Amino acid sequence: MLAEKLLLNVLIILLPIFIHSVLFDNKSVGKSPYLCGVLQSIAVFLSLMFSFEEGGLYWDLRYVPMVLAFLYGGPIAGVMVLVSYLATRTFMGGDLLLGYASGFLAALIPFLFIKKFWTFDAKKRIRTTVLVGLWPSLSMLLILVANIFINNATAEDTNQIMLNVAIFGTIQVFAVWVAAILNESLIEKDLMRKEILRAEKLNTLGELAASIAHEIRNPLTVVKGFLQMMHKQEKGDNYYYLSLVLTELGRAESIINDYLNFAKPQFEKLEGAELAEIITEVTLLLEAFAAKEGVQVNVQLEWGIYVKTDRNQLKQALVNIIKNGIEATDEGGEVNISQVSAGNESYIVISDTGKGMDSAQIARLGTIFYTTKNKGTGLGTSVSIKIIEAMGGSISYKSEIGVGTEVTIILPTYKQKPSDYTEQTQMNNAI
Ligand code: ADP
Ligand code: MG
Repeated sequence: MLAEKLLLNVLIILLPIFIHSVLFDNKSVGKSPYLCGVLQSIAVFLSLMFSFEEGGLYWDLRYVPMVLAFLYGGPIAGVMVLVSYLATRTFMGGDLLLGYASGFLAALIPFLFIKKFWTFDAKKRIRTTVLVGLWPSLSMLLILVANIFINNATAEDTNQIMLNVAIFGTIQVFAVWVAAILNESLIEKDLMRKEILRAEKLNTLGELAASIAHEIRNPLTVVKGFLQMMHKQEKGDNYYYLSLVLTELGRAESIINDYLNFAKPQFEKLEGAELAEIITEVTLLLEAFAAKEGVQVNVQLEWGIYVKTDRNQLKQALVNIIKNGIEATDEGGEVNISQVSAGNESYIVISDTGKGMDSAQIARLGTIFYTTKNKGTGLGTSVSIKIIEAMGGSISYKSEIGVGTEVTIILPTYKQKPSDYTEQTQMNNAI
């Protein structure tokens, strides 16, 4: 009987959450603490009305709405529920003093947690709600134990009461747990909706910026062409100035190209490209840069593996990633590039012994304009990720501060030369 009544109470506890998600989700009133207070007050009222009486004791989940209102709705909602509880309790009569005292006690603990609660993440919030929700069961247990001693209850009665406490505790924890999970999923849904709106806005902005970048690139090319002609003819002071202007123009052009590439990678000519060959070309390209930085680049290749791509795009993606590795590494460090195939996938692993990143930094990778460098653009990684994803591949980062970073790129293999052709090469660009 007790379990049955308490299950009804569980439904009552979950009622406000369902009403909220069906009627008030996505409405501005949905956030109001007053709405939360009203809905939880209804729950507390119903819970008291459908309380189960046995041996002069009332079994129900009356304190759960209070805990939920304080934690998820804030102090206003909590106090509203407390007042509703006190009013209903007065209306019901009985031992009012004990009723009031236990009401205030049950409100105290969640009230003390209000401030800290929202500094926790979702999992910890659920755990805290369950723990705070346990508090009423504990006070119930204390009252019962006191009762048993005062009334000198028989062994049989004591057993029955203990069984009831066990049932009560289990159902209460279950109800609070489910309610907290449902609340969290509502919060997450709301965050997701906001994130989608933000992403849509950014997307429109991105498209706008891309069209402007495109328009700027054309006159820039013309200006650069003429300046180059002047540069060739100039001999005096202006020669030096023009050189500077041209380098800066080149930089502006490469930023615009990177940005346009990010907005939409252009795959001009798709062809079967040999990975080992592309990587060799890229490392040759970066050789001088690595030498300047004092970083050794080691390469290990498996020849005969082809991917279908625009060679220049894949080269661009690899240059960005390897360059980041070299830039992150101090003089005397290493960048290792290895490429192997397994099944119908090709792996390129680029690891460095550089400064590494923490998990927050890794999470920001791929966010356009995120950079920690003075002269950085924050475009390289975003462009590389876009290109690799457009090829149907994937890229993942593993990193540890002070130890280094390992970037794994997985690409679908387009074709593979027969195995007798395949050979392993090891090339050490000891610089
Ligand atoms: P940029 O190189 O212009 O700063 P990127 O998009 O290439 O822009 O990189 C963004 C940021 O990610 C870098 O500023 C750097 O902080 C971090 N990063 C990328 N690759 C690595 C790496 N291999 N090791 C350490 N940090 C890295
Ligand atoms: Mg970079």
